Amino acid sequence: MSYVDEVLELVKKKNAAEPEFIQAVTEVLNTIRPVVDANEALYRKEALLERIVEPDRQIKFRVPWVDDKGQVQVNTGYRIQFNNAIGPYKGGLRLHPSVYTGIIKFLGFEQIFKNSLTGLPIGGGKGGSDFDPKGKSDREVMAFCQSFITELYKYIGADEDVPAGDIGTGAREIGYMYGQYKRITGLYEGVLTGKGLTYGGSLARTEATGYGLLYITNALLKDHNDTMQGKTVVVSGAGNVAIYAIQKAQQLGAKVVTCSDSTGWIYDPEGIDVALLKDVKEVKRARLTEYAANRPSAQYHEGRGVWTIKCDIALPCATQNELLIDDAKTLVANGCKVVCEGANMPTTLDATEYLQKSGVLFIPGKASNAGGVATSALEMSQNSERLSWTFEEVDSKLQGIMENIYKNISAAAKKYGMEGNYVAGANIAGFEKVATAMLAQGVC
Ligand code: NDP
Repeated sequence: MSYVDEVLELVKKKNAAEPEFIQAVTEVLNTIRPVVDANEALYRKEALLERIVEPDRQIKFRVPWVDDKGQVQVNTGYRIQFNNAIGPYKGGLRLHPSVYTGIIKFLGFEQIFKNSLTGLPIGGGKGGSDFDPKGKSDREVMAFCQSFITELYKYIGADEDVPAGDIGTGAREIGYMYGQYKRITGLYEGVLTGKGLTYGGSLARTEATGYGLLYITNALLKDHNDTMQGKTVVVSGAGNVAIYAIQKAQQLGAKVVTCSDSTGWIYDPEGIDVALLKDVKEVKRARLTEYAANRPSAQYHEGRGVWTIKCDIALPCATQNELLIDDAKTLVANGCKVVCEGANMPTTLDATEYLQKSGVLFIPGKASNAGGVATSALEMSQNSERLSWTFEEVDSKLQGIMENIYKNISAAAKKYGMEGNYVAGANIAGFEKVATAMLAQGVC
């Protein structure tokens, strides 16, 4: 049995109750086979793969808080510090009822390679809780965030582990968490990113993941002698990533006709009105029915369905495993030519393979959504320097980083005879740097 297959067997055995983690490891290890095969004796002796699939540590804790009725509620908090071979742990905090160890572990594992691809010195980690901010008052969200940080502060620090936002964790949550960290430790340091602009946040961080997704999509199209101009785009999600992806796609001359949330989706043949979407989601924190009620051209549908709309480009920006094999078949049948992932692992393994076999240009999330964490690392740099860069400065660095990621994943795929396979290219380019750093640092 090959070394990769042996380690995959081990991961399946040790993590049988964590399908998302197994899925993420399977995708990465399967695509780095050429690199592993070329270095098999050394990697085996050093147990490199066994080490890379095992988190440095997993922290799991109780988060008690009091709701508006005076009732004590208890959630579970997580932080998985996966790998710090190339820099301090870095990765978001997800607040969603679906959160359990397997979700945080898959996200933390992906984060190792994503962070490596940015070219910046950041290791991989992820955290969160099964707390659902939806429908909670601001005071309840604050009570949860303060309790969460009261335990987590022991394990994080500006040079140790720097959490950020993710699903359910936006500027409001980061603000409450930062306040509590400062209160407990007395430190005013860059321990969290995604902070508000008045207290150490970076301009362009809010826009970064969505904008970065479009910068890399644009670089991909350019490399194939095409542009965004006049393209029809379907987007899923209506959160941070989706909103700014839609905005940048429109700035680049495309028409975005869909968005979605966990209850329904919008088809707007006139093109999504971003100002209205922002008001509904960022200000009112309302459902998409509110968008439809204020936009005559929009149709609202319950459930899921954005992938049924004819398009040139599809950008999944909501959550994991939201683009399934049947969706991939529909997209291909409708002439879709490009899929770039804004969310983490939104496309299932079989759907990814189908898209690739059908000639669709496909960029995986760990490359195409890396603009968020890259800009978080730029926020860390500004915090260390005690300086703030302009929007244009950060945005132009972000654009450069995304174009560079495209070049690197493209070159890595080509080097191993898999030209155009950006999944393999991203995993290989991300892995090589981390592997070299781990080997240089000895057994740890
Ligand atoms: P938000 O919480 O801002 O938005 C998430 C969106 O996806 C919402 O519209 C939400 O709908 C929808 N959604 C969430 N879960 C589900 C579900 N189970 N089924 C259907 N719809 C769902 O999160 P972000 O935009 O920040 O994150 C989106 C994705 O991008 C995630 O995979 C995240 O890990 C990834 N990502 C985010 C980065 C960032 O900088 N924010 C960086 C890199 C990756 P509803 O409101 O109804 O729940």
